[in-house]
Amino acid sequence: MSERSIPRGSYAVLGLGRSGQAVCRFLAKRLGSEVERIAAYDEADTSELRERARDLEGLGVSCQLGADAVDAADVAVVSPGIRPDSALMRSALDRCGEALGEIELAYTASDSPWVAITGTNGKTTTTALIGHLLDTAAVPCEVVGNIGRPAVSVVGDIGPATVVVAEVSSFQLKMTLRFHPRVAVLLNITPDHIDYHGSFEAYAADKARIFAQMGHGDVAVIDVDDAGSAGYAASVAASGVRVVRVSRESRPAGGAYVRDGVLVVETDGGVVELIGRDELKIRGEHNVSNALAAAAAALAAGADAASVREGLRTFEPLAHRLEPVGVVDGVEYFNDSKATNPDSVLKALTAFDDRPVVLLLGGRNKGSSFASLAAAASARVRAVVAFGEARSEILAAFAGLEGCPVREAQNMAEAVYLARSLAQPGDAVLLSPGCASFDEFDGYEHRGETFRSLVGALGVRR
Ligand code: ADP
Repeated sequence: MSERSIPRGSYAVLGLGRSGQAVCRFLAKRLGSEVERIAAYDEADTSELRERARDLEGLGVSCQLGADAVDAADVAVVSPGIRPDSALMRSALDRCGEALGEIELAYTASDSPWVAITGTNGKTTTTALIGHLLDTAAVPCEVVGNIGRPAVSVVGDIGPATVVVAEVSSFQLKMTLRFHPRVAVLLNITPDHIDYHGSFEAYAADKARIFAQMGHGDVAVIDVDDAGSAGYAASVAASGVRVVRVSRESRPAGGAYVRDGVLVVETDGGVVELIGRDELKIRGEHNVSNALAAAAAALAAGADAASVREGLRTFEPLAHRLEPVGVVDGVEYFNDSKATNPDSVLKALTAFDDRPVVLLLGGRNKGSSFASLAAAASARVRAVVAFGEARSEILAAFAGLEGCPVREAQNMAEAVYLARSLAQPGDAVLLSPGCASFDEFDGYEHRGETFRSLVGALGVRR
């Protein structure tokens, strides 16, 4: 008998994207038992959505497209794309007994231990790495979230011994009530998505909800080099949780750190020496932090040290995250399209030591300031190519700074062409745009794939 169970009653599902659709299918299987009735809503009304709605109606879900209000229900399940100030969301808060997200629903439907990963940057890499370490150690696990299937689609198919490794965004954490991971990782909290959460404080508070239900016997892995996340270590420890502090800069007691170039994790069972930082295939200082955090989490979730060593050695960079995409005329090109805020660009630059870099920066600004990035990058890079909608803001941020020419491009294709003319043999050309992609692309993957094929074409036209 399950210790956890989903709330009983009628459901309103907000949003019919990937997550909302998966939620409808999950709930439809429980119609007549815990679930009384399901109504799904989307603000948009497109031919694709109509087709989707027809399929769902066949499962017993009543769908309303072009909706700006929901009917009363016991539970609202809110997709990440629904804005908190939208009419749909406001009506759900008014008319439904409780509002929760897909992760919360999946959690309440599973008996598994959960390992949850959050932070402004590094979530996907760290989540995939933890999955890889557990796989290597033959600990049964399922990776859910941004990569892998939506959590609600997985939990019905797994037993209680399977560890769920979940990447959870602040949007999802905001919509949790009972969510209680046994191992939680907080990587960093830097300004991002402020347009959604209202203020940096509100954004940080949403991320910290990952710890809300944790207590004795649980493990929190917190990066203490990052000012935004470090502040939570003491208060989480005070609630009885074992806190593993992650640092590249110091050696915290009971923590995960680098000693003489070797990654080390202190566990209840003693000090575990892992591998040399140079043995990692993922590049950059930030990936040393991610590897330390992932190793600490995997050890806490039951992986043995030998497997963690092997898994750290064999983990390959993910697509769009400092992904090498080709060498043309002695210049190596890297796709870091996933870097959508200025802080992640600074981290990406640490992967290149003293190697000259031509940096492609631009896209749609998410409300960030480029001032500190410009100050740090101008001393470091050979040149910057500013492209897309944010190019004038980027040009303005670099104006008056010594040391690095900034060129302007309308779009990505022109930016790649300019970068090629600026780079010299031995240099790296780095697409690490520090902005969202939606001015020119459908998403960061589309942007990264376009970059990859533009670089491929440079090679062919040589
Ligand atoms: P997320 O899923 O949180 O967006 P990813 O693993 O996809 O994170 O990485 C996104 C980008 O963030 C990477 O391309 C890299 O530039 C940067 N990044 C990765 N890990 C970190 C970290 N620990 N600290 C800061 N920046 C990071």
